[in-house]
Order: sequence, then C-alpha cells, then structure tokens
Amino acid sequence: MTHILALDQGTTSSRAILFNAQGQSVRTAQSEFKQIFPQPGWVEHDALEIWQTQLRVLKDVLTPAATTDSVAAIAITNQRETTVLWDRQTGLPLANAIVWQDRRTVEHCNALRQQGHQTFIQEKTGLVLDAYFSGTKLAWLLDNIPGARTRAERGELAFGTVDSWLVWNLTKGQAHVTDPSNASRTLLFNLHTLAWDDELLALLRIPRSVLPTVMPSSGIVAHTDPSLFGRAIPIASMIGDQQAATFGQACFEPGMAKNTYGTGCFMLLNTGHQPVVSQNKLLTTVGWQRLEASAQPLATTYCLEASVFMGGATIQWLRDGLNIISSAAEVEALAASVPDVADTYLVPAFTGLGAPIWDGNARGTLIGMTRGTTKAHIARAALEAIALQVADVFDAMAKDSGIALAELRVDGGASKNDLLMQMQADFLGVPVVRPNVTETTALGAAYLAGLAVGLWSSTKDIATQWSVDRRFEPSMASADRDAKLARWHQALERAKGWAS
Ligand code: ADP
Repeated sequence: MTHILALDQGTTSSRAILFNAQGQSVRTAQSEFKQIFPQPGWVEHDALEIWQTQLRVLKDVLTPAATTDSVAAIAITNQRETTVLWDRQTGLPLANAIVWQDRRTVEHCNALRQQGHQTFIQEKTGLVLDAYFSGTKLAWLLDNIPGARTRAERGELAFGTVDSWLVWNLTKGQAHVTDPSNASRTLLFNLHTLAWDDELLALLRIPRSVLPTVMPSSGIVAHTDPSLFGRAIPIASMIGDQQAATFGQACFEPGMAKNTYGTGCFMLLNTGHQPVVSQNKLLTTVGWQRLEASAQPLATTYCLEASVFMGGATIQWLRDGLNIISSAAEVEALAASVPDVADTYLVPAFTGLGAPIWDGNARGTLIGMTRGTTKAHIARAALEAIALQVADVFDAMAKDSGIALAELRVDGGASKNDLLMQMQADFLGVPVVRPNVTETTALGAAYLAGLAVGLWSSTKDIATQWSVDRRFEPSMASADRDAKLARWHQALERAKGWAS
C-alpha cells in the first residue's frame, strides 16, 4: 500500500488526488457543484451534492479496482466554516449547508458585540466575532428550521463542518468526528483547553449533543464502510484547507509562513505549540494536532492567520470589469511594459478591507493618475496592490509573534506570476520561495495521513520532498521599501470608510 488518496473538498469543486510515496500526484479527478444564492448575501451548498460529487471523484480516481488496493489511507481537507446540520437517524441534511461566505448572521454578531462579548470570544477562540465562522450559522439553522432546536436538544441532530459530514458519509454514520483545525473555526472551541467550551455553547445557545467528537488532525479516526470501495480504508487525516496548505508547504517550525495567492490571499504563520493572541487583528487558529516522536502524547501546532479579500480577484477585475486584459496571465506582460507605477496606487477594497485593517466600509480607490497614466500603470498598480496588502499582513504577523520571518513560501494560482513574486520579495525585504508542487492543500492532508499510517516516518522525511522551483531575492533598498509602503498607506487612508 503505497499511495494516499486525498479528498480536497473546496468551495466550488470536490477533488480527489492520488499521491505516491514521493509526494507526487499521480491521478486527479474534479467535479464542480452548484452555488446557491437564495438572497443577497446568502450562499448555500447542497450538502448531499457535496457528498455525491466527492464520492464520484473518489471512485474515478480508484478505477481500475487494483488502485484501491494500493491506498494506504484516505486524507481529508475541506473548505472551512461551512455548516451542515443533519438527522442522525436518516443521515439527511435538514437544510442546505450555509457556506463560509454567507453573511446572514451579521446582525447576530453585531448584537453579541454590542453586549460586549468580543474580547471574551477572542480570548477563548482566537477569532474575531464575525459571521464568517460556523457558530452563528449553526444557531441560525437551529432557530429557523421548524422543530430543529427541540430535536437537537433530544440528541437527534448532528452538526458538522464539511470534514465531519464527509467522514459521516464515508463511514455510513459510524463516526461523527472533526479535528481541532476545523473546530477552531466554529466560535465554539476553546483554543487553550482544545475542547468545546460550555460558556461559548451557552452564549450561542448550542446544545452540546449536536457536536462531533474532536480527534487529532493526523491519526486513524475511522474506516470507510466496506460497501463503498470493496474494503475498509483507514481515514487518517482531517484538516482545514489553509492549515493543510501550510503543512503541505512543510512549514513545520515556528517562524515559517506560507501565503496562498488565490481569489483572496491567505497567510498562515506557524507559531509553535502555544497560541499567540493577536494585537493586530489577526486570527489565532489551530494549525494541526498530531503525534510527534518527541511529544507527549499529542502536539498541537498553532498558527496566526490573515486573509486579504482581493488577491487574484483584483486581476479578475482587470479582465472582467475593466477589460484591459483577456486572461489573468496577460497581466504580467502588460505590467512589465512600464518600469514603475508612476505614483499610481490601486486600493482594491471592493468588498472592504480585511486584516490587519478590517474596514467593511472601505471601497476601491485608484489614486495618483495623471494624463500620462495608461492601462499598463493600472495593471502594474493592481499587482503591486496584491503584494502590498500581503506585506502589511506579513508585518502584522512579525509584530504579533515577535518572530523575524526569514522567508515566505508561496502557492496558489497567482503565485505563477514572476513579476508579482519579485514585487513581493522587494516589499517584504525577505526571499519569496515558490515550490515545485503547488498542490499544497491536498498534499498537506496526504502528508498528515501518511504520517499516521507510516508511509512517511517523520516531518524530516517530508521536508526533504519539498523542493524549490524558484527563489525570489529582494532587490529593493530598504529606504525605497519604506517610502513605497508609506505611500501605499497614504492611499489606504483615502479608501477607508468611503461607504459609511
Ligand atoms: P482559487 O483557489 O481561489 O479559485 P486559484 O489558486 O485557482 O484560486 O487562483 C486563481 C486566481 O489567481 C484568480 O483570481 C486569477 O485572477 C489569479 N491568477 C491566475 N493566474 C495569474 C497570473 N498569471 N497573474 C496574476 N494573477 C493570476
């Protein structure tokens, strides 16, 4: 048994990837599923469709049947915070899943904030009080589905994030489990005790009986029902997607950080075995929990996390909003056709600003234009804006953790852009390192499962598999970098509060 089968259950598609013992992907299948928008600000998924697409791609990758015999374990990584409530008897969801992007519980969060619970919640959970997380979504389901709260109190219902939902289905209802990386995104989980917290449950009015059992991120948590694949396959990891990518980037030591340049940007910094409470509006989260040779009995790795809402999406806007490029890849040549931005700044606050500013009323701003400004300057300013936002969260992470970060590992669609990566190194003042394998999310989950079943013996083993495609060295003088960031912060000031 020489392979790990990773399930990467994302926001828009379900994927299955078969990895060999060298950490190379040998087969992949992907299936998109419906995005449901019942009202402005609401986003739902059909949980059954999530399961069905996931099962289909799993079976695709396992064909021919001989492949099944080569699978040592299944690994699960998933879109985080998305909330499913189902009937323990029938296994059927009571409603569509409420997706992480859904804003229907903003009012509930505002009310909790006005009652003064923000600090209490941040201290216990490491999170900001926001509709993004699962807790208020679950409360909404219990309050709005007729009879749900009474049934939940009688122990008839099960709550889970997508990892729990997939394991429930893979085991035909034998296991109702989650891991600390997913649990730490619910507002119900205490980061310090690593357990569901009665005070948080009471505050959000969640009955304990709906909650899954929290298991390590790496370890055999259950076996698939034999009727599904002809034999019982161990399920040996569960981990949220961004934490999985951090593991897949081999950020095993405190002070190692990765940034994923997708639609948004997600930066995670390994802060070691203690949670660091942020003074700079970052999130504190569990990275992963696993057995380590030296650890007794389980070691929990924590991370600081920051998200930038408009990362690669800024480039989509150049393509679809402004029509100045016809594909995202074209932005690099257009931006490189001018030597600099000629003092033009684009603040892509199209949906407000995330970490470390958190201004929901900020709006997009393009400033500094003159008669000489061209679409090339705007394209270049858009790339710079991605790198400058990332530089700001990088700086906040260094301040919060007290760690001088030596480099930034990168992945995601826009990390293919060499010009953007060079800008990033210049604005950070540390090297930016792009690995050969950028499928880091599925790979991280596969590594955690492989460690649990002995396919890899240690993180050292894995670290040797991680290999560099290209390293971007900073080439900007520090005085120039300071001036650049100062000018960017002036532009940011002008974008803040516009919609208020
Ligand atoms: P997600 O997982 O969020 O869907 P991906 O990792 O697939 O995102 O990356 C897609 C994003 O990267 C898109 O927003 C796209 O605009 C951006 N992108 C893709 N290629 C490039 C490029 N060469 N330069 C800049 N941005 C790019």
